[in-house]
Amino acid sequence: MFGLIGHSTSFEEARAKARSLGYDEYADGDLDMWCAAPPQLVEKVQVTSRTGKTIQGAYIDSVFVPEMLRRFKTAKRKVLKAMELAQRSGIDITALGGFTSIIFEDMNLLREERVSAVQLDWQRFTTGNTHTAWVVCQQVEENAPKLGIDLAQARVAVVGASGDIGSAVCRWMQRRGVGELLLVARRPQPLVDLQTSLGEGRILDLDEALREADVVVWVASLPQSLQIDTASLRKPCLMIDGGYPKNLDSKAAADGVHVLKGGIVEFWQDIGWQMMEVAEMAKPQRQMFACFAEAMILDFEDIHTNFSWGRNNITLALMDQIGEASRRHGFQALGLEPATSQAH
Ligand code: NDP
Repeated sequence: MFGLIGHSTSFEEARAKARSLGYDEYADGDLDMWCAAPPQLVEKVQVTSRTGKTIQGAYIDSVFVPEMLRRFKTAKRKVLKAMELAQRSGIDITALGGFTSIIFEDMNLLREERVSAVQLDWQRFTTGNTHTAWVVCQQVEENAPKLGIDLAQARVAVVGASGDIGSAVCRWMQRRGVGELLLVARRPQPLVDLQTSLGEGRILDLDEALREADVVVWVASLPQSLQIDTASLRKPCLMIDGGYPKNLDSKAAADGVHVLKGGIVEFWQDIGWQMMEVAEMAKPQRQMFACFAEAMILDFEDIHTNFSWGRNNITLALMDQIGEASRRHGFQALGLEPATSQAH
């Protein structure tokens, strides 16, 4: 059985969802009330692979909202309680979606194995980052040529290059062979370490990288206040919006700039579930975050272990393995709409 731990994208949206489900008390409640609320197992589903194998799954809402990010103790408790619920529910492999894996890593929750009376078994959880990194790389490789961008000559900027997903994307792009890798993040030292381990890549600040890049892979959570000077971007430019939340399409809207929702996959058939309705997927019955899909793929493959775990442990071999399984079970990385790719 696979599990997905998710959360609403904002407090406002969480309240609207509670209202639609008939939980008026929650819909009217303030943030303090939501901080105290326990996680909920909101949905159970059955999913059939293209190979014919059927598995069972469950969606757990951690009742976390991004407005709680600065309330460290609350954020920490929300993630651990949701993991405890997944384990108590007998789920074999659960993906930590949205901000939950970042909270887990940033707050070093590995030290917090015991939640209430439950000893958390880390083998039952995955960040889903290996599959996310593979999907983002597929999105670059499949869509850049559609825009006339030759990757062998292209400058590929990775914003969040020193992160877990970003460093994996850099290693993949290096193996594939791109014109030049541009490495972007805020802290210099992790970028220097990455550059040393790759033996290539140019470290730039964001504005410089945006001016030079043919492809921009965004794998960092960026502030709402971020502004992009679209006039200075190269045209055509392919942008893969792999961060969370996905807020680039309005910021980078311009002729010749093509923004693709990154780290999203489409399943080969509809799944009778509600959980992706709130994630603003174009086809919520079959589209989902790649990190969630990783838990499904691992369950289809009977790999009940923490496949993606810790930081900067993603290898090309693991990306190849999860990618091959992803295709076999009927997942496809989201691509540019044909009309959009022909428009400019
Ligand atoms: P990490 O915390 O490991 O890495 C984040 C990276 O972004 C670091 O290199 C960090 O470096 C950099 N960064 C953070 N803020 C900024 C900023 N303002 N400007 C430039 N760089 C910045 O995160 P992950 O690799 O685990 O995840 C990356 C993103 O992908 C997250 O937004 C996550 O929510 C999202 N994600 C999306 C999924 C999906 O859509 N399917 C699935 C999983 C994750 P520094 O701190 O030095 O700036």
